[in-house]
Amino acid sequence: MTEETFLKGLNTLYIEDPETGCWNWKKGIHHTGYGVVDINSKQYRVHKLMYILINNYNPTKEELVCHSCDNPPCVNPKHLLLGTSQSNMTDMVIKGRWKGGWKSTLNGGSFKGSTNNKAKLSEEQIPLISQYKQKIKTDILIANEFKESA
Ligand SMILES: [Zn+2]
Repeated sequence: MTEETFLKGLNTLYIEDPETGCWNWKKGIHHTGYGVVDINSKQYRVHKLMYILINNYNPTKEELVCHSCDNPPCVNPKHLLLGTSQSNMTDMVIKGRWKGGWKSTLNGGSFKGSTNNKAKLSEEQIPLISQYKQKIKTDILIANEFKESA
């Protein structure tokens, strides 16, 4: 698919599990269990793309996008957090960092300080991301609000 198909149709490409809140990717699953998508003939891991989209932060080689729900096909940004190969997902510092990033991004703020210096926007990889970023955030906001009030 193209970037546009992916970004526009994002919220139709996963199924929310009402029990866990997981957004289970339904388009393609890698043999490792992660959701994958082909954009312009390049394969991307969807949970990583979601993390980049929401946090405006492109993880380094040492950093992994982990699942707090332990469910590899899940692409719910609320279930994604940054870890390293040494300290996986039990690290509370990492969870704190993720929480702050999530909230500040949702509130329309941006990263401040050192995080911002490290931040590398993904627009170079997927140019249309900037165009649809706001739409995706809005979709996610709506989904979360809906869930919390339900
Ligand atoms: Zn999940």
